Amino acid sequence: CGIVGYVSSAAANSADHLALDVLLQGLGRLEYRGYDSAGVAVVTEGGELAARKRAGKLANLLDAVTDDPLPDARTGIGHTRWATHGGPSDDNAHPHLADGGRLALIHNGIIENFAQLKRDLVADGVEFSSETDTEVAAHQLAKNYRATGDMTEAMRVTVGELEGAFTLLAVHADAPDTVVAARLNSPLVIGLGEGENFLGSDVAAFIDYTRRAVEIGQNQIVTITPEQVRIIDAAGAPVEGEPFEVDWDP
Ligand code: GLU
Repeated sequence: CGIVGYVSSAAANSADHLALDVLLQGLGRLEYRGYDSAGVAVVTEGGELAARKRAGKLANLLDAVTDDPLPDARTGIGHTRWATHGGPSDDNAHPHLADGGRLALIHNGIIENFAQLKRDLVADGVEFSSETDTEVAAHQLAKNYRATGDMTEAMRVTVGELEGAFTLLAVHADAPDTVVAARLNSPLVIGLGEGENFLGSDVAAFIDYTRRAVEIGQNQIVTITPEQVRIIDAAGAPVEGEPFEVDWDP
């Protein structure tokens, strides 16, 4: 299973990469980790969020984006799933959407306390469209975003409510230039570009684009924009990541 995140903008990025191309390239590099489903979500600069996901190989996802093309976008998230809760199916594949389709979230790992959280969300009238543990994180993040108006703060609060081991990445239509992420007992690394930044389960996710990387600690929250990378701890205090140069060839 693997995770890729990409953020850029037409103005900031002279290489002018499209998010979909970067995400598919990264997911291809992460195939060696194993998976049963794959999906992507992109956000256009105009604030349109769109997602495609399919059970099976990356080729199935490629068919999906060929049959039903995504809008051109420079921000997005990509996922390969290794099912733990809910069998491999299109509905259970990630991303999972919330906030009326304006928020998309991907997850590697397990959320141990999902059943209790799901009961509370259902009692609040939230409708679920998958059997995954992951979908509670999407709706919980949406709820916390409505309360805080800030995706980074919403992610920080959400992580405090979740138990287990997870890497989470999310985008919102309100913030087309931002990917937020969190890491707890699960891998996540930042890739630094020029006017573009990356996230990945490991450096293979972005090795075709940059060799400058930043290590993130456990229980930290990361926000990337085309020009900036910010890391905070569980209490919200700024953290310095550990920069390193990738000396590995694919
Ligand atoms: N537990 C999640 C699921 O079953 C994520 C699995 C993974 O790490 O890909 O959907």
